Amino acid sequence: MALKFPIYMDNHATTPVDPRVLAAMLPFFTEDFGNAASRTHAYGWHAEAAVDAARETLANFIHADSGKEIVFTSGATESDNLAIKGVAEYYGNKGKHIVTTTIEHKAVLDSCKRLEKQGFEVTYVSPGPDGLVDPDDIKKALTEKTILVSVMLANNEVGTIQHITEIGALTRARGVLFHVDAVQGLGKTPFDVRSMNVDLASLTAHKIYGPKGVGALYVRRSKPRVRLVAQLDGGGHERGNRSGTLNVPGIVGFAKAAEILMQEGEAEAVRIRGLRDRLWHGLTKELDQVKLNGHPERRLPGNLNLSFSFVEGEGLMMAIKDVAVSSGSACTSASLEPSYVLRSMGLDEDMAHSSIRFGIGRFNTEEEVDYVRDLVASRVKRLRDMSPLWEMHQDGIDIKSIQWVAH
Ligand SMILES: *Cc1c(COP(=O)(O)O)cnc(C)c1O
Repeated sequence: MALKFPIYMDNHATTPVDPRVLAAMLPFFTEDFGNAASRTHAYGWHAEAAVDAARETLANFIHADSGKEIVFTSGATESDNLAIKGVAEYYGNKGKHIVTTTIEHKAVLDSCKRLEKQGFEVTYVSPGPDGLVDPDDIKKALTEKTILVSVMLANNEVGTIQHITEIGALTRARGVLFHVDAVQGLGKTPFDVRSMNVDLASLTAHKIYGPKGVGALYVRRSKPRVRLVAQLDGGGHERGNRSGTLNVPGIVGFAKAAEILMQEGEAEAVRIRGLRDRLWHGLTKELDQVKLNGHPERRLPGNLNLSFSFVEGEGLMMAIKDVAVSSGSACTSASLEPSYVLRSMGLDEDMAHSSIRFGIGRFNTEEEVDYVRDLVASRVKRLRDMSPLWEMHQDGIDIKSIQWVAH
């Protein structure tokens, strides 16, 4: 089959909508266009029934007790905001301390920063060099004042899968609420809010081959019952947790995307991991001095975050325009700040700047992987051939030992 360029390998940023998801959504734009809050006619009832079925599907997907625990939102950014600010506002008089990690998504970190301005104290736990957060470090950070712990299921840059079960056991024992941004791990690694003692979980459709602009927040209803202060005022939709007319086609698509993963997720993970490993082995066979960022085993099947020594990530991205990927410098903003995730794992600025994130997904093929391997290998070689530092390295000079003198 002819390759389509640029080859999309940025599936942590977003994913294409699966055609089966689109087909499920389409009727809800046209003939079944009702407002799920309209109680007076069949258009509304039909939309409401579709939304309620979607709630049940998503609840099953994460092993929640009931569809009533699913609050639909505009995406995981909103879910993270609602979870953290909503809990802080409700339980703030019980304590004003939150524990999270330095490698969370900005939606979590910036929500925490906002709360710090409002008098909350936040402890940011750093991961080890492999991107794994030690549950013991979370435990040590807990105080009498802690009301919430927020740790992501899997990191969006390095793919490291956190010890959610262990952290959930200790938050439950201490009576502290536990929020998990589950976006990246959903359908790719086991996630069970019941056995993991998760109290709130952020989900989004567009990272699992569903549409953009629809997500959900799981809010536990018993043992313990979690309470939130809504962050949007209005019609009191979603049991008062999130006002706003529901995105019915989006919600239907979200549930369809979840249903597909429930049926095919395990086999898909095996296939995608095979492609990821094929790329890794192919690249390391061709190239020296390639560093894998993140944990070698506890990582998402499609994630390959690599630093190519002596090659700048942005420069490499320019040289491989046939492939759509992300670099360790560009993900947070338009400025070339090195990734805060890689930095807090202890990577020096050069290695953080030389990183590329490959995110392999459902629609990637072996043929694409082989094309990308050959392209990346040849361009890295070419860029290194132009680098005086690489030449010195080849001559056996330890670059780090050089005393650079400014005249
Ligand atoms: C993409 C992402 C989000 C944001 O989700 P949106 O639905 O795009 O707002 C939050 N957390 C993580 C870990 C993500 O990867």
